[in-house]
Amino acid sequence: MAEFDVIIVGGGIAGASLGAQIAGERKILIVEAEDQCGYHSTGRSAAFYLESYGGPEVAKLTLASQAFLSQPPPDFSERGFLRMRGDLHLTRDELPQLPPSVESRVVERAELERLLPGVRPQWRRAVFEPGCADIDAGGLHSAYLRQFRRRGGAIATRAKLIRADRRAKAWSITLADESVLTARILVDAAGAWADSVAKACGVAPLGIAPLRRTMVQLRLGRSGLKDLPLVDGADGSFYFKGETDDSVWLSPHDEIPTEPCDAAAEEIDVATAVDRFQQVVDWPVERVERSWAGLRSFARDRLPVYGFDPDAPGFFWCAGQGGFGIQTAPAAAKLAAAMLLSKEAPSMIAQLDPAVFSVERFRQMSD
Ligand SMILES: Cc1cc2nc3c(=O)[nH]c(=O)nc-3n(C[C@H](O)[C@H](O)[C@H](O)COP(=O)(O)OP(=O)(O)OC[C@H]3O[C@@H](n4cnc5c(N)ncnc54)[C@H](O)[C@@H]3O)c2cc1C
Repeated sequence: MAEFDVIIVGGGIAGASLGAQIAGERKILIVEAEDQCGYHSTGRSAAFYLESYGGPEVAKLTLASQAFLSQPPPDFSERGFLRMRGDLHLTRDELPQLPPSVESRVVERAELERLLPGVRPQWRRAVFEPGCADIDAGGLHSAYLRQFRRRGGAIATRAKLIRADRRAKAWSITLADESVLTARILVDAAGAWADSVAKACGVAPLGIAPLRRTMVQLRLGRSGLKDLPLVDGADGSFYFKGETDDSVWLSPHDEIPTEPCDAAAEEIDVATAVDRFQQVVDWPVERVERSWAGLRSFARDRLPVYGFDPDAPGFFWCAGQGGFGIQTAPAAAKLAAAMLLSKEAPSMIAQLDPAVFSVERFRQMSD
């Protein structure tokens, strides 16, 4: 029976980034159910970095990740992962409130027309957030997996956890092929399956709910789109960003409750996305080139969960990364690693309060 100090369930960005922080310090294995790591949410994101997204506590994780994402250490990556783009939060009426830590300015209609040629008249103004960037999400995930392996971590794909039992201070973990592994610490980084994995380990679920989000790649009869800002509706009804010179990635900003699954775009959501897009700009739509969907999984308070379960010895949660799991990964992984290894937090995350992300907060909510 193979024995490890730590087994991480899930090889998406959450498992890979936490694994990379602790490999070298512990004997560690990532078990991933699919043929390849990153097949689910991590491989389906809109790939942007937006400091105002997710509220003030998520903004702290995002801001703490910024320096690493823009200038990673050379042994991690020779290139940064961010490409600056800026974001226009469009509004017909009230201006959106961004967290105070986020740099922004108001853009009135005349400037809006220059920044977003073809914007329809009902969009009167916007808040511009200059710090918004594209993230090379695939590059970041690969770099974490590379670092994990280089530091001695092992990865097993097509290795689905189906059950785990706590015996004599260790987890005995059964995979779908009936092989059995042991580890003192089991990390639940299973994305949309976080609650299912907990239940399979006899641990009470936290209510982490997957919500489906649709993405559409639209070909347009208009060029010069690639470097325009990300554009989102301050009312939360759409966002789009230039993908190539004459195509955009578009989302209707949908959040459809679903069971954990291999999510796919539904026709009605694609149609809604296109309809909303046509109400924002007058750019002629030529065709839908492709569409896809992924699951964004949230705890009840929409904050991620990092930490040991107080009622399940050796069970560590790394879940609920919602729509911000890529942009927060560097700081979140350092925070989770410090908690898991009982080490002092490094300076990059010294300003973060681990209690905000702890499992205990749910116990307090239900008291
Ligand atoms: C459409 C869309 C747009 C998004 N846009 C952005 C964005 O612009 N910026 C941003 O920062 N974030 C964005 N996100 C969110 C981001 O993609 C997620 O927060 C992040 O990918 C979550 O990573 P994860 O590792 O927790 O989950 P996943 O990538 O889903 O990984 C979990 C893994 O666990 C595995 N697993 C599950 N059960 C088991 C089991 N029993 N045994 C073994 N393995 C198991 C799964 O196969 C899966 O590979 C977006 C998400 C979506 C869907």
